[in-house]
Amino acid sequence: MTYCDRCGRDAAEGAHDACRAARAMEPPRYCPECRRRMVVQVTPLGWTARCSAHGVTRSGEPVS
Ligand SMILES: [Zn+2]
Ligand SMILES: [Zn+2]
Repeated sequence: MTYCDRCGRDAAEGAHDACRAARAMEPPRYCPECRRRMVVQVTPLGWTARCSAHGVTRSGEPVS
């Protein structure tokens, strides 16, 4: 992961403990690979987040 998928900042820079804690409850906001804002849809089963360059991430799927 290059960018924090919650705050969009460099994942190696600063502390993201609060982001990780929030991400246990919330969908991601930014693509971890390109930092684009992702299109998030909440579904009855969880959520999907779509990056226009990197495709869809779903809740419950490991982030690679
Ligand atoms: Zn963060
Ligand atoms: Zn992306």
